Amino acid sequence: MRLIRGNTKIGRGGSRPTCWTTEIGRASQLIATLGRRKDLDVICPYCGYDKDCALFTDEHVLPRALGGNVQPTNPFRCRVCKDCNSACGRWIDGRFAKSWPIHNWKTDAARRTYDPNAEVAFPPSYIGTRSDWNQADGTICEFWLGPTGDHIYHFHEPYTDADVFAGRPPHIPATKVDPGTVFVAFVGTNPVWPPIVYRGARETFDEVTPIHLVNAAPHRDSVPYPALTTSRQQAQYNWIKSRPEGVMVPAQLAMDVDWGERFLIKFGIGLGATLLGGNFVTSQHSGVLRKALWERKPESRAQLGIRGSAFLARDEMQMPMFAIPQCHTIVVMPVQGRLMALLNLYGRHEGMIQISDDQQLWECLIPEEGRTWTIAPAFRRFVGPVSIIDFMNNGEPETSPLRKQIDAILDSGVPLPPYHLTDPTEPKSA
Ligand SMILES: [Zn+2]
Repeated sequence: MRLIRGNTKIGRGGSRPTCWTTEIGRASQLIATLGRRKDLDVICPYCGYDKDCALFTDEHVLPRALGGNVQPTNPFRCRVCKDCNSACGRWIDGRFAKSWPIHNWKTDAARRTYDPNAEVAFPPSYIGTRSDWNQADGTICEFWLGPTGDHIYHFHEPYTDADVFAGRPPHIPATKVDPGTVFVAFVGTNPVWPPIVYRGARETFDEVTPIHLVNAAPHRDSVPYPALTTSRQQAQYNWIKSRPEGVMVPAQLAMDVDWGERFLIKFGIGLGATLLGGNFVTSQHSGVLRKALWERKPESRAQLGIRGSAFLARDEMQMPMFAIPQCHTIVVMPVQGRLMALLNLYGRHEGMIQISDDQQLWECLIPEEGRTWTIAPAFRRFVGPVSIIDFMNNGEPETSPLRKQIDAILDSGVPLPPYHLTDPTEPKSA
């Protein structure tokens, strides 16, 4: 949602805004007509500053990394300044998408369909740091699982930040860390899989990180097969080969205590700007959310009195009826004089946040019975909005028309090829 006004910047002698335009089509038209008029300023929902509209870009309220770039029209986009867009990418969205629970549910949802005509890449899931690696060469060993259960080892010198991400922390540039070495041990015996696993690993690790294969045969022609060049790599390879088979893998994981909190706040602001427009952006509560968004210390954020609940584990969901496997569900509903937004990700993690406490802002836009949207991220498609009453379908949401539409999307993919060609007990799809 764009917010346009005339010559109103404080400090330039202009008056406060008198005319707001929040309707998308009209706003776009105005921008097209007026071009880069110097006095044409827009307020950024994330920082609250007036800026020239030419400094604005499209922001995905639900990030692309989580399948938020839905087709063909995207109802969850707003205009934010370039500075905020790039800062959010590194410090908010990037960190959230690379937190291991979200990374792993994302890879899980992505492995539901297969396009035999495309260069498919299924990224590996993150398991943690191997505690049985001796670290004699000063490296740690991060362990990942490929789509057919492939073992993927990444040896590198430890990152300076806390180890709470799947891979390199998104705010540290690749040039500032040891690229390390990756080893891939394929598990599937169907020759269709090694290139898919390899491409997934290639997309996951930095370009300069060499990827070696532990057991390329009999498919060694389908992916690159570089030779080990250093004694360090040889020692790492020997250690992998010495691992006993069929035993539990000891790995360690860490989590930020305020996991996902700032992402949820950003989501609340973006959704408020998208659904309620300019009056929300200039509202008092939106200012409180902004303050929380840029506050790094969890204890300082807690003092701002923002209502909601950060992402919880599946068995702690307060509203499990909105959990649809592999899908995201967005719910917006007025509750006791507050407009609340619920975001359920991958049917696994649920967070809730107050968007506004000013009923005038939403009474003409959000009906009392609320609104829901459901997104199938692996397919970049969504269904909605529907009212919560329709979603609930007399207490049987699983048989609602909405659910049938979602199931049709989820079933539209081509099943995965078998992992093994000779083992009749292997399921045909994951
Ligand atoms: Zn901004």
